[in-house]
Amino acid sequence: MNSMQCYSPNTLDEYQKIYSGIAEKNILVFSGGTDLMIGRHELSQDAIIIDISGIAELKGVEKKENKIFIGSCTTLNELLYSHKIQNDIPILIKAIKTMASEQIRNRATIGGNIGNASPAGDTITPLVVLEASIQIYSPESNEVKTIPLEALFSGPCASTLQNGEIITKIIIPLFEDKDIFCYFRKIGQRNAMTITKASLSAIAKYSDSKIEWIKLAPGSVSPVVKRMSKTEEFLQGKKLTPAVINESKEIIGKEISPITDIRSTKAFRVLITKNLLADCLSELINRH
Ligand SMILES: Cc1cc2nc3c(=O)[nH]c(=O)nc-3n(C[C@H](O)[C@H](O)[C@H](O)COP(=O)(O)OP(=O)(O)OC[C@H]3O[C@@H](n4cnc5c(N)ncnc54)[C@H](O)[C@@H]3O)c2cc1C
Repeated sequence: MNSMQCYSPNTLDEYQKIYSGIAEKNILVFSGGTDLMIGRHELSQDAIIIDISGIAELKGVEKKENKIFIGSCTTLNELLYSHKIQNDIPILIKAIKTMASEQIRNRATIGGNIGNASPAGDTITPLVVLEASIQIYSPESNEVKTIPLEALFSGPCASTLQNGEIITKIIIPLFEDKDIFCYFRKIGQRNAMTITKASLSAIAKYSDSKIEWIKLAPGSVSPVVKRMSKTEEFLQGKKLTPAVINESKEIIGKEISPITDIRSTKAFRVLITKNLLADCLSELINRH
């Protein structure tokens, strides 16, 4: 009978060597383990676990050339308490504050939240409106490529990562303009320790009582997280009258494609998403 093997490399170089030495390539990348441990009974006994959380190159937050670089194994609490993230990416702070518990956030990583590829992953919608990209390391080619985050997701909890490929960094471009509105809200079963039934991330520029531009990404209402381009286009350049807000709610309601599952019904998810958009737009008006 096969038994599970585990490795804990300290560098990407070590990761590459371990990968090259494994013939079967039935590798499971493990970071904080907070998603993987829930499904541990489904782990195949001959899976080879590589715990990447000790790889120093994958940790920390750096600011360079008007971009923030986040190492994929940075924990959610490290991000929550990072001054760079607090100052430059407040929407991510809003999202992380709603996630799990102090104990889980001490282990859970941003790379794991993205790698899990759930449409309910709470760091994903803020990163999508921020037009983040990710660096992916391939141990096969020993090369790093950069792709838009949105291109990673191929279905609910499915990604385009090939066996052994790992996300190394998340890259977030910063705005020169500091007067950018940001919004994150999620609706779950309760206020704390709750998985999203539906959520909304938005960033916008508002001036002269009009929306100059807005970027919207709802969570848990489509197979993969994506931008609401029709709703965004409709709102661009508009004054936020009650009629405009109502019409935008109808457009977003048609743009999403939620399903009924154990957490919520399709109809309720449509209703929440419309109401989250109205809440976001009224917050936008009240802030200005
Ligand atoms: C009680 C509880 C509450 C939770 N609450 C929330 C919540 O409110 N919101 C939310 O979004 N999630 C929540 N989660 C889910 C989970 O904590 C997060 O998704 C977390 O960020 C996963 O990170 P991790 O490091 O633990 O991932 P892991 O479990 O280590 O890995 C998750 C997946 O990502 C892959 N992976 C990990 N790192 C990488 C990498 N660098 N590159 C490529 N693939 C990688 C793994 O192979 C695996 O498929 C909760 C979990 C629990 C147990």
